Amino acid sequence: MTKRPSPISATVDFDADGVQHGFLKLPISTDESAWGAVMIPVTVVKNGEGPTALLTGGNHGDEYEGITALLKLSSELRAEDVQGRVIIVPCMNQPAVMAGKRTSGLDGGNLNRSFPGDPDGTVTEKIADYFTRVMVPMCDVVLDLHSGGRTLDIIPFGASHVLENAEQQRRALEGAKAFGAPYAMMMFELDAAALFDTAVESQGKIFVATELGGGGTSTPQSLAVTERGVRNVLIHFGLVEGEVEMPAEPQVYLDMPDASCYVQSEHSGLLEVCFALGERVEKGEVVARVFDPTRSGTAPVEYRASRSGVLAARRHPALVNMGDTIAVIADIVDSLG
Ligand SMILES: [Zn+2]
Repeated sequence: MTKRPSPISATVDFDADGVQHGFLKLPISTDESAWGAVMIPVTVVKNGEGPTALLTGGNHGDEYEGITALLKLSSELRAEDVQGRVIIVPCMNQPAVMAGKRTSGLDGGNLNRSFPGDPDGTVTEKIADYFTRVMVPMCDVVLDLHSGGRTLDIIPFGASHVLENAEQQRRALEGAKAFGAPYAMMMFELDAAALFDTAVESQGKIFVATELGGGGTSTPQSLAVTERGVRNVLIHFGLVEGEVEMPAEPQVYLDMPDASCYVQSEHSGLLEVCFALGERVEKGEVVARVFDPTRSGTAPVEYRASRSGVLAARRHPALVNMGDTIAVIADIVDSLG
């Protein structure tokens, strides 16, 4: 069955040259506003012929590096800086950003688990559908800026995936490296089916993702990596002139070959992570302990590394529940892909 057209409309003309700031408007009817709309900010910067890059932040509403860097870029990027078209959406899941949460404040939807989406679904599913059927087909390259959010803290990296199409995989990997974070990662997703990543990659487009810090805030360091990375990606794919600026230390390549990279808690309690982010971990070492805070004199449960590598991510809050990811250990490799 063919889907009806998206109920979302854009107040900008994606084909017009120059800089435009506007909204993706999604009709919504609530107690507070009978004939209202969710207003997702969008900036289009177009100058003549060339590739189109879509830059997205706020796919998860509490991942502030991408949101902040793209809000800044949206007010700074000039048409004469660009050859082609740059579409900037700093707050992709706007209701989640406004709620300060990973998921939508309107329907609880996790946008990055809602693709390809549905024009007749929830608000979150309607947003996903609009990107799948309207935004992504306009683009050659998508840079989707994620970080750890409130519950994770993650080393900064550009990431791509193993793909069936070798040329598409190579171009995405080159983009992930050119982002110029201290790390570049070949990422294994726990469940890729409903990700934005998959919606973009299945259309044959180049998709670069990031992780850039977390803890429900940003830092001068994490923002500097993000802003440099966005500029680098625009330069690498030929939209902006200049030289890609790589980190002072040689970039470290990481691989997540399978689900054993994820250490997940089988207990609830108080978490001690025994390594700093970016520190080397050997197989068999205690990577984390979970204490029972309801009584003294009991030994903690120990979690040992099932592989050697680098501590790439950790749970940010000290309270942990069964099933939470408490650590991610990635392999250090000489080359990727
Ligand atoms: Zn995210």
